[in-house]
Amino acid sequence: MTRRTPSTAPQTGAGQAGRYRDRIFDDQRHDPYQTKGKVAGPLRCGDCGVVYANGRWQRGSAPEGIASGLCPACRRIRDKLPAGLVILDGPFVPAHREELLRIARNEAGHEESEHPLHRIMRIDERDEAVTIATTDIHLPQRIGEAVKRACRGELEVRYGSDEYSVRVHWRR
Ligand SMILES: [Zn+2]
Repeated sequence: MTRRTPSTAPQTGAGQAGRYRDRIFDDQRHDPYQTKGKVAGPLRCGDCGVVYANGRWQRGSAPEGIASGLCPACRRIRDKLPAGLVILDGPFVPAHREELLRIARNEAGHEESEHPLHRIMRIDERDEAVTIATTDIHLPQRIGEAVKRACRGELEVRYGSDEYSVRVHWRR
């Protein structure tokens, strides 16, 4: 269900809620990290080794003497600025932490094999919560849906309304 609140309406509940929508309105929404410093020629990321050629970043061998740079994912990692967050919390979490992390890493592995810039950049673990930060806005939903498939629970996905961001909250 989509519910939009006019920006003039008084904010209720958490102040952050108004910054998020519950689905992507424009899947082609632009990631500022994708266009910032657009590259003309072939480039190899000095941090992770992905190669930019023919208009996209991909895994593979690089031609001799290729220029070195940073891919958008590694720029985010250096800036500590995730595009996506997955929050797994609730009393179910402490006893199933390893299972949840295995699911998340497994999904991340599949996603990265298709989209080398979609990655987990950080995992924070607390007693009843695991927070996973990602370099893109697609992986969090993939992780959330996989966790829900495997462990049931409640899943909420909120995309940023005016920025390239997503927040996925799973609870059980
Ligand atoms: Zn990189």
